[in-house]
Amino acid sequence: MGSSVIASCPCGFEQGCTIGGSMTSFRTHRYFPFLCADCGLVSVNVAEDPPVCPRGSAHKIAQYGSNWRERREREKAEQALVAARKVPFWEWIGLSRPKPAAEPQPEARTICQCFDYEIVEGQYTCPQCRKETLTFDSTGTHFD
Ligand SMILES: [Zn+2]
Ligand SMILES: [Zn+2]
Repeated sequence: MGSSVIASCPCGFEQGCTIGGSMTSFRTHRYFPFLCADCGLVSVNVAEDPPVCPRGSAHKIAQYGSNWRERREREKAEQALVAARKVPFWEWIGLSRPKPAAEPQPEARTICQCFDYEIVEGQYTCPQCRKETLTFDSTGTHFD
């Protein structure tokens, strides 16, 4: 149900955070890392709607990573677009040679996921140096 990740940046910033929640309390408590404008990297209870910074509900927070459902929708739309473009009729009858299909992009590795919240391999805003050099890595710790 839950796991933990470690966020680290070349500037020296390093912080572990909890993803998800325990089997017994995930309906009311499940956590995901957010960037708070005031506190930096915080574990926010995303079971609350809307999620707020644990140290102050007025703090401005932004979720790390992306939304799994939105990404799926976007990928589906992109695939549909590619499929529709694949072999246009004029190419099929030989008016021009179809270009070789683009290599499919390797899927980004998902570091962690909690319901629709997910962090895929990539670089994010560091709360310390504010550069886009923060990376998340799974610690391999899981709990339930
Ligand atoms: Zn805060
Ligand atoms: Zn940094």
